[in-house]
Amino acid sequence: MNKQLRKKLYLLLVLIFVIFLFRFFANWPSFIENVYANGIYKLISILQRSITGWLPFSLGDVVYAVVILLILLGIFQYIRGIVKAKENRGSFALNGLLKGTIIFLCAYLVFQFCWGLNYFRQPLSERLMLNSERADKEQLMRLAAILTQRVNTAHLELTNDSLVQYRNPIHSDSLYKIASVGYDKSVDFNFKIRSTKTSLYKLLMNYGGIGGYYNPFSGESQVNTDPPKFSLPFTICHEMAHQSGISAEEEANFVGYITALNTQDKFFKYSAELEAFMYTVSELGRMDTLARKHYYLSLNRGVKADIKEYRQFWRKYENAIEPYFEWYYDLFLKSNNQPKGIRSYNEFVNLLVGYYEKKGLITVKSQ
Ligand SMILES: [Zn+2]
Repeated sequence: MNKQLRKKLYLLLVLIFVIFLFRFFANWPSFIENVYANGIYKLISILQRSITGWLPFSLGDVVYAVVILLILLGIFQYIRGIVKAKENRGSFALNGLLKGTIIFLCAYLVFQFCWGLNYFRQPLSERLMLNSERADKEQLMRLAAILTQRVNTAHLELTNDSLVQYRNPIHSDSLYKIASVGYDKSVDFNFKIRSTKTSLYKLLMNYGGIGGYYNPFSGESQVNTDPPKFSLPFTICHEMAHQSGISAEEEANFVGYITALNTQDKFFKYSAELEAFMYTVSELGRMDTLARKHYYLSLNRGVKADIKEYRQFWRKYENAIEPYFEWYYDLFLKSNNQPKGIRSYNEFVNLLVGYYEKKGLITVKSQ
């Protein structure tokens, strides 16, 4: 074995050991909560956004594009090298494979250190003392009834006419500022230095079915501003929840909901209530399709028009690659303490039931 190969093998072993060390600490949610989420992560994210936040564009988006190009170039050079090598083809191939694995593991460790360990925090339901048990049909029906009324009221506050679809004229940059107010007013989720930007890859995100994403390497939140506007305030608040150190998707949805309401802005309120309604009736529909239809039909006509436009928008971009992307994302979430994968987003409804249960609006499940 040559010296270079041996050096790479040693480095690989060290990296695997550090990953095991990270996973070992991840078994102690209270340690992750106190030492990482409320200590190390806060410092890292302040540093990240102090560097990237002032830029008018998403630096993370640019860096991702450069990295993808470099990866493609590396793969091309690797294959070309194997084909061209007359002697030592095996050692060249192994060397390249080791190099690729080391780069991947380094990126994984940076990801875990910069944000990923937040997946292993104490559950938000424990921190807020909310019941987060899986909601039964009766509870979901009660929640759907509450949200139907809240959506219709929020819609009427905007339009004064149940038949009219609301058109919001505010630019997305102003929406980012309003969302920030929601976090300023929050006791539990306030955080320092925010950075929310419109993504450079909106079209690509449309085809991937993505409304927004958090870049753990730059600390920036990217928002796709193409989907119907009523969905933006909720998406923005969701992505900001990720900045605050909430990794789990159902928790980011819940924090997005609460902080959107915190803004006391009528459009944000409508957005949050409608998204919560859509998640709730979608879960309810898995148990009872007639109940789902009943609540949908109880909405103001203007609200139904918004839902129709939303579905049509995403349907327009459905494609053959999307399921593969979803499969990969599902796997990613499952490997990061989100056992339900993509369905984690829907677990949001259990937190909503717990929230309205605490407010005395939903009855506690009988044991
Ligand atoms: Zn998210």
